[in-house]
Amino acid sequence: MSDPMGPTEYPLNSYQAAMRRTYKPNRLLNHILGLVGEAGEVAELIKKDQYHAKQYDRMTMKDELGDVLWYLAALAEDHGLTLAEIAERNDEKLSMRYPNGFVPGGGLR
Ligand SMILES: [Mg+2]
Repeated sequence: MSDPMGPTEYPLNSYQAAMRRTYKPNRLLNHILGLVGEAGEVAELIKKDQYHAKQYDRMTMKDELGDVLWYLAALAEDHGLTLAEIAERNDEKLSMRYPNGFVPGGGLR
């Protein structure tokens, strides 16, 4: 039986390399507006679920989060960054700020 969570490993930089097939440079505004727009689509699914009794399915959420990921990867590409280094840096930052996990008001700066 396949893992219901999908593939357990898909390297971020492999995704970014695949993303380049549909990426166009010098479209920073398109990429940031796309990221915000797709995040809005995720929010809309949750809003309809929470307030309009319209439950979203897992595949739709996966697709919309994937759209967010595409634009995030495009923005990373625009800035000469890799998704893996962004993820690593974020992990480092949060590990320093919240060494014992998230505690409201307890972050170290
Ligand atoms: Mg979408």
